[in-house]
Amino acid sequence: MLLDLDGVLADLVQGLLERHGRPSPFSVESGVFGPSAWNFPQTVWGQSPDDTWSVCDRSFWAQLPKTEHADEIVALVAGHVGARRVAICTALPGAVAADGAADGKLDWCRRHYPELPVILTAEHSDVYTTPPKHFLAHDGVILIDDNEANCRAFWNAGGLAMIWPAWWNSRWAVQGHAVGQLDSFLRCFA
Ligand SMILES: [Mg+2]
Repeated sequence: MLLDLDGVLADLVQGLLERHGRPSPFSVESGVFGPSAWNFPQTVWGQSPDDTWSVCDRSFWAQLPKTEHADEIVALVAGHVGARRVAICTALPGAVAADGAADGKLDWCRRHYPELPVILTAEHSDVYTTPPKHFLAHDGVILIDDNEANCRAFWNAGGLAMIWPAWWNSRWAVQGHAVGQLDSFLRCFA
């Protein structure tokens, strides 16, 4: 069982809003929601990837707040599959400017969930020597991730995945029922 970090356990979006001093762009009224809102710093704010990530040093990643449901998610999946079969699986941003991401993410995981092993992957395997998440996909492996593209690649490679509901994916409308949906998913597939 692989748990994504950003957007599932760590609140990356809140961290980005604070670091860039901007309000949340997401709402039904603003029309900013769904898969097209995935790269909102670029598509809504008009930033380049380096604009977004160059201000995100090791301490930024290490000090991200937990998401509202992080502890519930970890407890729920451990309850379903056993704590020793759960790992955090997190991708390093593609931008070269995000140099502190690997260390900062490991800092975060050690601080909040020291019992869980961490697998570092990459959004772009040409930037780092780590592979994308779907390299880990095979029969019986489940990924919980807010990145719809990651989930689709994982399915296509032979694994199972659940898109964790968020404003920036196609399951945005069921965010209020995310933990219950995870429980149902695990009852069916774990
Ligand atoms: Mg994520």
